[in-house]
Amino acid sequence: MFLSVKNLCAGYGRIEALHDITIEAEKGSIVTLIGANGAGKSTFMMCLSGVLRPTSGTIEFNGQFIQNMHPEEIVAAGLSQCPEGRRVWPKMTVQENLEMGGISIKDPKVISDRLDMAFTNFPILAERKKQLAGSLSGGEQQMLAIARALMSEPKLLLLDEPSLGLAPIIVEKVVDIIKKIRDNGTSVILVEQNAFMALSIADYAYVLETGRVVLSGKGPDLLKDDNVRKSYLGV
Ligand code: ATP
Repeated sequence: MFLSVKNLCAGYGRIEALHDITIEAEKGSIVTLIGANGAGKSTFMMCLSGVLRPTSGTIEFNGQFIQNMHPEEIVAAGLSQCPEGRRVWPKMTVQENLEMGGISIKDPKVISDRLDMAFTNFPILAERKKQLAGSLSGGEQQMLAIARALMSEPKLLLLDEPSLGLAPIIVEKVVDIIKKIRDNGTSVILVEQNAFMALSIADYAYVLETGRVVLSGKGPDLLKDDNVRKSYLGV
């Protein structure tokens, strides 16, 4: 399995936020985690990116156990995160933000090729490359955050709440981008409170409640599940 998380526990001091999480993702798939506020989605993402050290369990990614690795080693192994709230550097230009995403790349030619690729894939960023990131709209900042995460050419992209605070028409654009990323061969782990959006594009999905996986299945199947519909889709 491309990503295999087994019996993962993690928390903050004495508070355990994730209990015995087991999750898998196949190469080239979109896997989503949905759940209410405080369910543990961000905590899970932090464990994957190495920001938070799990207390027990394993994370095997592309044949390597990464649960004890540092964030920069995890990025080098091919896993990149686009954090919740986008967190672009507002006082840096669009191009400088992208260059920061490729900071571990030594060869200037590779950096320049990847910048070209980002500008081709996200034409709006090409138009605004000299503009300060803080002056972009919410949707443009989300594009920038995704493009920045792609600068390291990850094998697996972690997307934390990419639809947060965006108008529905912009969410549709973000959905198209996520599908394109998957179709280009990068696997995606998508964490969302917008369950409808997430389940619509997920190849496989997990429902998290208070730090536990309570349900899993193919995205389209969970969209039809009565409990999911009542609890997460408001129908
Ligand atoms: P949200 O969508 O609101 O970010 P979430 O599903 O991502 O929710 P987490 O942020 O992972 O959930 O929170 C899981 C649990 O861990 C919650 O009970 C939360 O209160 C707790 N928690 C999160 N961050 C911290 C922290 N820095 N210190 C202590 N407890 C925390």
